[in-house]
Amino acid sequence: MTQETISKETREFQTETKQLLDLMVHSIYTNREIFLRELISNASDAIDKIHFESLTNRDLLEGNSDFEIILKPDEATHTLTISDNGMGMTHDEVIATIGTIAKSGTKSFLEKLKDRGNTTDNELIGQFGVGFYSAFMVAKKVTLLTRAPGQTKGVKWESTGDGTYTIEECDKESRGTTIILTLNDETDQNDHPDENFLNRYTLESLVKKYSDYIRYPIKMDFIKEEKPRDAEGKEIEDAPVTKTVEVRTLNSMTPLWTRNKSEIKPEEYHQFYKNLFQDWEDPLEIIHSKVEGAVEYTTVLFIPSHAPFDLYTKESESKIMLYSKHVFVMDHCKDLLPEYLRFMRGLVDSPDFSLNISREILQHSKQLKLVGKNLEKSILKTLERLLTNDRPKYEKFWKEFGTAIKGGVYTDFQNREKLQDLLLFPSSHGTDELTTLADYTKRMPENQKVIYYATGKDYASVERLPQMELLHDKGIEVIYLFERVDEFAIEALKEYKGKAFHSVSRGDLNLDDKDATESKKEAEEILKDNESLIKAITDQLKDKISSVKISNRLKSSAVCLVSDDQGISLSMEHILSEMNQTMLKANRILELNPNHEVFTKLKTLHETASDSQTFKDYCDLLYDQALLIEGLPPEDPISFANKIASLMAQTK
Ligand code: ADP
Ligand code: MG
Repeated sequence: MTQETISKETREFQTETKQLLDLMVHSIYTNREIFLRELISNASDAIDKIHFESLTNRDLLEGNSDFEIILKPDEATHTLTISDNGMGMTHDEVIATIGTIAKSGTKSFLEKLKDRGNTTDNELIGQFGVGFYSAFMVAKKVTLLTRAPGQTKGVKWESTGDGTYTIEECDKESRGTTIILTLNDETDQNDHPDENFLNRYTLESLVKKYSDYIRYPIKMDFIKEEKPRDAEGKEIEDAPVTKTVEVRTLNSMTPLWTRNKSEIKPEEYHQFYKNLFQDWEDPLEIIHSKVEGAVEYTTVLFIPSHAPFDLYTKESESKIMLYSKHVFVMDHCKDLLPEYLRFMRGLVDSPDFSLNISREILQHSKQLKLVGKNLEKSILKTLERLLTNDRPKYEKFWKEFGTAIKGGVYTDFQNREKLQDLLLFPSSHGTDELTTLADYTKRMPENQKVIYYATGKDYASVERLPQMELLHDKGIEVIYLFERVDEFAIEALKEYKGKAFHSVSRGDLNLDDKDATESKKEAEEILKDNESLIKAITDQLKDKISSVKISNRLKSSAVCLVSDDQGISLSMEHILSEMNQTMLKANRILELNPNHEVFTKLKTLHETASDSQTFKDYCDLLYDQALLIEGLPPEDPISFANKIASLMAQTK
């Protein structure tokens, strides 16, 4: 074969390319390491190409079909070389592809830059896969040697990123492309090992991070320097160092998720999870699925066994990695899953995600939204399945992540129906037992119209609430809310399958039985008979409460506080004040137990000495007691203590 010799020439980059190059050269972008991903993925694409074409034309292979990508760091020349034996380029192809910008991704990147008034926005670089040109982020000179199959001569392309490049013919024996990066001076500083791209271990970890699942081996020489050892295994001090070269393949090549589910052992999933997400514990549950349809993807999702310490802080987000045809695209894709699923870990691999598309565009892409919705659906389905088929495991999950799910109830309106059935609550049904709302309603007697709940800090405090006494007596089950988020969730739900939620500390208990109607009537009569007493107490406490009522729910306690049916509840008031939102106050109603001795005492006092300090003090004490029962501090603890003390002193 004869070929015309092509002499060396210097050419200018396109204007757009110049712009991009300028940006790369002057980049102070911290994520420069992505250049390696870009160059390896180009090498892999080139091998894909020849691999595919050789299926119909074996001659292309020139007998060389051990596809590989080789990394060669060289301290002496200050270079990092990346070679492949893929489909090399002809002279014209190099000019057409390397000197110009044809990619839509890069075009939109540049447009974006224009929008921003051409500022060097470094963040933007990381958001776009800028392909080949990213080499200029780390290299002051890029030399590309390439030979297409069937060509006798190769092509040498070289640029320092200054707006021009040179191109000439050269000898190149092996097929494929070799890219030699003469690194910037600062990219081999050992005080920044992560940025030292001549450091073999840095390179190895970058390959693991970004290119682990490239289908072809990525190889690198490791040089072992050793001194010979004596009989006891000790290094011989003054012996010369021997160097042995060991070729290692850096990537694992077969993505776990592309393998058949039935062929993957649990340990393999576990190891994979632990490596990828730096966890020391096996995951609680694995979801591995392949989906074909409107959007095509494979996903492996993990529910961890324990909540990370920062799960309930703002910074915490789900870690779902994106891959495109096994090439890593994004570390964690924000907004893929709703916030309440931020404990999820995993990855999605889809040919519909493109490597070179911007993160912003990707994040708004329809496909991604669809994938997100699908993932959410399958996570909820998995949880449903766990709840019905493996209750102990579900409860383990609940203990770690229940709070997050409850958060979902008031943030994710669309899935509220599904989420409400995933909720577990402690209840008066049994200590240390959790109930679903479905089970609660199943146990409800026919005439019970509402779902009762009580708020408190634990079983002991809730069970002893005076407001619980009547319900206890009647054997009516009450759901317990121990966590802040519980009440928000309940308020968001308002009802479950037509049954409203009703706090035991609110207005009327709405009990629908003969006893209740009777005791209600009775209470009304007592109220009528004691009108002036009630008025006197109300007057004394007028700054603190909205009204005084005769209780029909109290059995042994003298007093309790409830809130009316309109405003916020007392516990919500408490939560809000802890969150420094003190504006809202519950409407307090003081309920008195007419059968308690204290009531009789008040009556007598009122009849004989309604203006006395003792009567006033008793009213204040009643209110303070009611506050204490609610877990709230008396408004004036010192005066409260003084009143108690003087009472104690009076006792004979
Ligand atoms: P993309 O990979 O999205 O096409 P790049 O900027 O990464 O964009 O690469 C531009 C083009 O340069 C590629 O499409 C390919 O034609 C060519 N190219 C780059 N690297 C190689 C390589 N190692 N072997 C063959 N062709 C390459
Ligand atoms: Mg590329």
